[in-house]
Amino acid sequence: MTLDETLAGKEIPEDIKKDLLLVTIPYLSFDNAVQQGHLVVHANVAEEVQNIFKKLSEIRFPIARIIPTHVYEWDDNASMAANNTSAFNYRVIFGTNRLSNHSYGRAIDINPMQNPYTQHNGVIVPSGARHDPTQQGTITVEIASLFKSFGWQWGGDWQERKDWQHFEKP
Ligand SMILES: [Zn+2]
Repeated sequence: MTLDETLAGKEIPEDIKKDLLLVTIPYLSFDNAVQQGHLVVHANVAEEVQNIFKKLSEIRFPIARIIPTHVYEWDDNASMAANNTSAFNYRVIFGTNRLSNHSYGRAIDINPMQNPYTQHNGVIVPSGARHDPTQQGTITVEIASLFKSFGWQWGGDWQERKDWQHFEKP
């Protein structure tokens, strides 16, 4: 897989494209197998993202899959429904017309089925997801503190809506 392949099928501004990197991420799957995934991230955070996922693997935090979103035709709903962990996607923030930090490769969503996005009205996406911190693959305060130690913010800390799967470093 090459960076060009992962950026195909979407119009992305050149000044965003030039800062993106494709990184290989070894991870532990839910059935305890070592797998390799790929994340597209901003070059400035590439090394720390690799370090964070290395630590996640060391503490045996399971991840369902890590596949660049072009495979889901840039459809975040399809990516979430597949319980896919991903970073870059040139898209707006759900329910707004503002560009998400995912558009710069500066946000990562992890295990959306265990860590759903909970809207103001209580509606949860992806549908069928359930947030239960006792379940494997759910982001706990401990997991979040790992990201925070590298200066990332967690959507689980947001007040009016909770985006449990989401970390960003704007
Ligand atoms: Zn997100």
